[in-house]
Amino acid sequence: MMTNPHPLRAKVRIVLVETSHPGNIGAAARAMKNMGLDRLYLVQPVDYPNEKAVFRSASASDVLDQVVVCASLQEAISDCSLVLGTSARQRRIPWPLVTPKEAAIKITEHGAGAGDIAIVFGRESKGLKNEELQQCQYHVNIPTSEAYSSLNLAMAVQVLSYELFCASEAATPERVWDQLPATNTDLEHFFGHLETTLAEVGFHDPDNPRQLLTRLRRLFLRIEPDQMEISILRGFLKAVNDATRRQSQY
Ligand code: SAH
Repeated sequence: MMTNPHPLRAKVRIVLVETSHPGNIGAAARAMKNMGLDRLYLVQPVDYPNEKAVFRSASASDVLDQVVVCASLQEAISDCSLVLGTSARQRRIPWPLVTPKEAAIKITEHGAGAGDIAIVFGRESKGLKNEELQQCQYHVNIPTSEAYSSLNLAMAVQVLSYELFCASEAATPERVWDQLPATNTDLEHFFGHLETTLAEVGFHDPDNPRQLLTRLRRLFLRIEPDQMEISILRGFLKAVNDATRRQSQY
């Protein structure tokens, strides 16, 4: 295991979802190592391991040696407390949008002490799906010419890694907070509990969901709840469940 001496960058993982070209994986590893990052996660890579990846990584094959391959995006980010998704495209229901520089500042403010951080990149052909972006707190968009907004995958990794390098070298004070931030798993459990409770009280119709759950997901992701706040909300949902079930007995 390579040791990364920088406390914040050591907390940051780069997650590539269903990458088609192994050369892009190698080039991403190189971009990461140039900028002091070494934790690369691959979600269902199409063609990996492959010697093209090693070739394109140049002197960053040590990053490839410690790659973590995951079966799902959920698995790659479940223990993270800050997740940023990158995309060239605007979405119908917009997600909180930041530039790479703003993303890097968010990461440094989140700090090394709070929990792991993931930056997620999509497929070369069609990027991240809506439901994948909706697992992230932020949508990072790299500003480009209107004529052509989609960067090569490894180039996009380079831009984000570079901004993070610059921001993490300039010491930004960490956010001081009394509770740990909720992890992706805490949030997903809460969303599941919220969905069943909303259905139980008749506020949400599973047969006609519209965008209710997406909008609620965006609301709660945007406010970055801590673990205590999530457990208060879950306690409240449990009280609602108990009251509804008591009532339905009569
Ligand atoms: N054709 C795809 C683009 C894929 S580019 C689409 O329409 O979404 C491969 C990946 O590189 C993207 O999923 C994203 O993670 C990253 N990327 C490329 N250009 C980007 C940009 N302008 N802003 C943010 N991320 C970008």
